[in-house]
Amino acid sequence: MRALPEGFAAYEWAPSTEELAERASLRPAQIVRFDGNVPARPPAGATPAAVARTLAGVSSYAHGGYPALVEAIARYAGVGTENVVLGAGADDLILLCARAFAGPGDSVAVAGEPTYPLYRVAAGLAGAEVDRSTSPAVTFCCRPNNPSGALEPLPDERPLVVDEAYYEYAGETAAGLLDDGVVVLRTFSKAFGLAGARVGYALAAEPTAEELTRRQSPLPIAAPSAALALAALADPPDVRPQVEERERLATELRALGLDPRPSAANFVFVPYERPRELFEALLRQGVVVRTFDDGFRVSVRDREDDDLLLRAFAGDAPAPPTAHVRATAQARVYVRLFPGRAGEARVEGVSPLLAERAAGAGFGLVLEAVGEEPARSEEAARALDEALAEAGR
Ligand code: PMP
Repeated sequence: MRALPEGFAAYEWAPSTEELAERASLRPAQIVRFDGNVPARPPAGATPAAVARTLAGVSSYAHGGYPALVEAIARYAGVGTENVVLGAGADDLILLCARAFAGPGDSVAVAGEPTYPLYRVAAGLAGAEVDRSTSPAVTFCCRPNNPSGALEPLPDERPLVVDEAYYEYAGETAAGLLDDGVVVLRTFSKAFGLAGARVGYALAAEPTAEELTRRQSPLPIAAPSAALALAALADPPDVRPQVEERERLATELRALGLDPRPSAANFVFVPYERPRELFEALLRQGVVVRTFDDGFRVSVRDREDDDLLLRAFAGDAPAPPTAHVRATAQARVYVRLFPGRAGEARVEGVSPLLAERAAGAGFGLVLEAVGEEPARSEEAARALDEALAEAGR
């Protein structure tokens, strides 16, 4: 194989939930991950029905690509269809931009480090060096930045790739600068809650979009994933509750004597002196955060999970909760049981009778059910029984 630039380091995934559970002597259902910057739940529209038609035609290629998805993205982003390039997540488009703009002998600039590590990986895979001192073939900028959450001014360099993976939370975009040498990258993995589907898109001036498409793999997105993204765009996410929850979490972290940095995304960065020790202490309580040399980053989940994180910091953690998921073609149900917090219940999407039963189950409890009735309530009752049986009730 062609040698990679000296010092090249491949992308590293965090360990699996199973691996983390084993290290903590817990069950995987007891691990709560705050390290992925994704919402706790998929969108309501991510259902088997959304992909049923696609599966009926899954034996053929999606000849001609996904024009309906491209159109919906163009409408959502306020650009023309000729400005949209699809990719298998923003990651695919970061790799595409790096290899399209840079190659061996070129230098690539990465603004505002520490930042998302894939820009360096992508530059290295393209054979280019990452070096701010020379005139770069392309500059990558993450806005809002991961891991800091900061919304810094846009760099002046061109061409400039602006990674707006967290755009929805920040509400600011560089999409008005496509004719000024800017390429914007977005994703369905974050606010849209479809990380597992692997769908992202680039916005670029027409000639740039055409060139990117010429250099893209022929059909980078699976048809069921394209269907899920299209269904999600019919009802784009309202991120306000997440933004409010982020601010509540930051306030509570401050009350614990920590100093979370201001964030325009769905996570907060907290400077901390010995983050690895903290990681291990939290892991023993089932809580997983992402550590860096000088601090840690936590994703905003929901109130109950975030409270768990806060209690784990305070050293006041109850026994880890257990999560149970039940999914059928008609409904899906999430149950979390919090030992020692009987009477605290948040129940969504089930009949009052079942809600009452759940509330009296002897646990703190979150029960969320989505799907059509009567399947939704029936599956919710089964899921509650299963969760209680798993918890030894
Ligand atoms: N860009 C940034 C800044 C990210 O944080 C992430 C995910 N962690 C990605 C891109 C990757 O997104 P996708 O799932 O769309 O590949």
